Amino acid sequence: MKTSDPIDVIILGGGLSGLMAAIRLIRQGKKVTVVDNSLPEAGGKLGGFAKFSGAKFSLPPAGMGLLTLAGTKERLHQKIDEVIEILGIGSLAKHSSFERGADEEIYLGLDTELRSYNSIVLSPPQIDDLLARLTTLISDSCQLIRGKAESISPNEQSWVVAVREIDSNLTLNFTAKTIFYAAGRLESKILTNAGAEEYPGKGLDVGFRVEFMQRESVGALRDLGPDAKIMHKSARTFCLNSPGEIFYYKYGNMDIPGGVVANDNVNTANVGILSRIKDKEKSGREIVDNYAKIRNLPKSGVQTGRPDLCADLPLSILLGEKITKELQEFTNILGDLHLINWDLPFRIHYPLIDWYWGTYCSGPSHKTSLRGIYALGDSAGHARGLLQAAISGWLASEEYLSEINH
Ligand SMILES: Cc1cc2nc3c(=O)[nH]c(=O)nc-3n(C[C@H](O)[C@H](O)[C@H](O)COP(=O)(O)OP(=O)(O)OC[C@H]3O[C@@H](n4cnc5c(N)ncnc54)[C@H](O)[C@@H]3O)c2cc1C
Repeated sequence: MKTSDPIDVIILGGGLSGLMAAIRLIRQGKKVTVVDNSLPEAGGKLGGFAKFSGAKFSLPPAGMGLLTLAGTKERLHQKIDEVIEILGIGSLAKHSSFERGADEEIYLGLDTELRSYNSIVLSPPQIDDLLARLTTLISDSCQLIRGKAESISPNEQSWVVAVREIDSNLTLNFTAKTIFYAAGRLESKILTNAGAEEYPGKGLDVGFRVEFMQRESVGALRDLGPDAKIMHKSARTFCLNSPGEIFYYKYGNMDIPGGVVANDNVNTANVGILSRIKDKEKSGREIVDNYAKIRNLPKSGVQTGRPDLCADLPLSILLGEKITKELQEFTNILGDLHLINWDLPFRIHYPLIDWYWGTYCSGPSHKTSLRGIYALGDSAGHARGLLQAAISGWLASEEYLSEINH
């Protein structure tokens, strides 16, 4: 595509949602521009969080929030198949026990349930390969801009997106009638500043990550499935999918031990312990403010025995007493149910905040409150996750295509 060609759709964000949307639109002969300000750790590569969040693709019953967009279960499954084929993970999906529609919760005792998902976990070379393939698929047929979208403003019937290009540091203006906003959780409020309405979405999960020096500490948990989630009231476990390196990212002034970059050579195992709070905007701000009071969070050393969250760490100052108590109760229950062996050495990394800000869709559509602007993936708010972002991008393109064809 030549830079002078008029753009049908400008896609802001080159994570899985933006990439899959681009592929779907290109197939239909649309002129697409993708703008991506890649994560600092990604070294300029596309893919957003795909490499830094465990490279784990969770199959149904994960992501049933997409059902409202797909319309029927049959169509959702058909879209999952299409997306899995493009991602090139079909053979791995066949090997996983992909039981469609299975939505089982198993009671484990002590007011605690097990929710199992079937997942495809890719190794670092596999996810690199997948992202390289997707990049090749789009780079010949669409304009790819490495840059940060800084503002969106109306211009007659179209939108103008100002993009600061990374290499030249120049600001370029792109005009299109349609914007796909796929900037995910690192978004910078440009859509809100353009006047789009934000919807509450789901809550904010906060807590801590435990790095176990020996994998057998969480052996009983992993025996329940590579992607088993344990739920107790508002608390849940998170990311026990694969051994890997903990990936820290910036959240305000904090370093968050959020993702896991899968790596089989790592001998430690880790699990997140989180509690979900409802008012994500207010709670997120409070945690950032509380952090400012503590300034330097003391690092936890290697320890054994059940952690005393109030005594060991300033968690109650950071997250508040109520949440810390819930996390403590859940920590104890995981020990009581023999799912985690707290007698073996571990180290706590905190604060773990699994957030997703700025969700712009409500109801069964990718449309935002602004005409011609769609939100996809994490920015849409229907469902969160890698496979879910990819499907959301695919479905958003189909929604747009069906709109312009009628
Ligand atoms: C710590 C952590 C752990 C996770 N664990 C899992 C897991 O185990 N399994 C799972 O399925 N999901 C997991 N997720 C969720 C999953 O990573 C996301 O749902 C998915 O990556 C969303 O894809 P996306 O395309 O919507 O956005 P992203 O992957 O966030 O991609 C957005 C892209 O847009 C770019 N961007 C942002 N702002 C701009 C701008 N202004 N201009 C241009 N580009 C911009 C970003 O840099 C990025 O490249 C995890 C997420 C996190 C943070």
